[in-house]
Amino acid sequence: MNQLSDRINNLATSATLAMAAKARELRAEGKDIIGLSLGEPDFDTPDFIKDAAIEAINQNYNSYTPVDGYVDLKNAIITKFKRDNNLSYSLPQIVVSTGAKQALYNIASVMLNKGDEVILPCPYWVSYSDIIKLNDGVPVEVKTSIENDFKMTAAQLEAAITPKTKMIWYSSPCNPSGSVYSKEELRALADVLQKHPNIYVVSDEIYEHINFKGGHFSMAEFDDMYNRTVTINGVSKAFAMTGWRIGYIGAPDWIARACNKIQGQVTSGANCIAQRAVITALEAPASCVKYMVDEFKVRRKLILDLLGEIEGFKSNEPEGAFYVFPNISAYFGKTIKGKEINNASDFSLFLLEEALVATVTGEAFGNPDCIRISYAASQDEIKEAIKRIKTALS
Ligand code: PMP
Ligand code: GLU
Repeated sequence: MNQLSDRINNLATSATLAMAAKARELRAEGKDIIGLSLGEPDFDTPDFIKDAAIEAINQNYNSYTPVDGYVDLKNAIITKFKRDNNLSYSLPQIVVSTGAKQALYNIASVMLNKGDEVILPCPYWVSYSDIIKLNDGVPVEVKTSIENDFKMTAAQLEAAITPKTKMIWYSSPCNPSGSVYSKEELRALADVLQKHPNIYVVSDEIYEHINFKGGHFSMAEFDDMYNRTVTINGVSKAFAMTGWRIGYIGAPDWIARACNKIQGQVTSGANCIAQRAVITALEAPASCVKYMVDEFKVRRKLILDLLGEIEGFKSNEPEGAFYVFPNISAYFGKTIKGKEINNASDFSLFLLEEALVATVTGEAFGNPDCIRISYAASQDEIKEAIKRIKTALS
């Protein structure tokens, strides 16, 4: 008998991690799977960061850290926010967590009461809706379209607001669409929020540096939004440090204090060696990791050109992150190699089984007409994967 809580029984498994696990399983069975499912840079963590971690071990950093992070790390984060985002935070406004994922979980946990609504422009990052539901909130999806570069307009935001709206969560650059909100677009959203002073914003900027157009703008840069915006960031993407598990927030101090309180009961704080290494990472100039961004830009062009040669793939041009999110609904209702394709999940499964290429269904991101393809893979892998997809579909 299932003795588990309703909470866990009702929780969806992370589709990105599930697909990565499935690809790993098939590889272990000897299948030559190309993994384009996980949003994880395929680079090594830069040596200067690894050296800082080794030094920290040798210096005997082995005790519990302050729950919200080492003070010198928080100071490095404050300097980073000022340098890169023109945002002024003080020590009590910063909390270091076990990945941006935990930072998001903390926010949901400290901000949401039962039935509070959180507006999510669709497509949204896979874990937002389940983190919100896990904390008794209600995700409210706002559909966007490829024609509008998958961005929510001010009118759409206005229409989605109800007396129960508590927050808006979005990522820019966006996982999965790669879209980047301009300053003007964010201002238009902020103008709507001026009429609703009790709505808070989570601005997830974890892909900030993976921006091919430049011009990253943070919602909290607007003076009238600063006191109701939580800025989320982390080192997983920009520094190829996914497994080190460090993320952080800049927030109004009462929100940061609450996140500190919950971490004190749940994790006692993030890993000490990783925190020491992140000080070195954040103090380095952005030019230290530019080679990764340059390579992602080359791959973006490669994958868009190759996908453009396959009928039935319709993509926007992502301006950041390392994903393409093509609409593949032209295949719905077709039977290929004896397999019926009626939705994005069928399509993604078809690609896994027939092309041996792992992708993620758009359903997990709130858009059932698309699939997400990560191009955090080598150019050779990308070429081979798209060739296989083309052959399987022809
Ligand atoms: N936000 C977005 C938009 C992401 O794509 C991810 C994926 N890693 C996260 C947050 C969580 O990142 P972390 O590895 O820091 O937990
Ligand atoms: N954020 C990455 C992704 O979207 C990593 C997986 C995860 O954390 O869910 O694929």
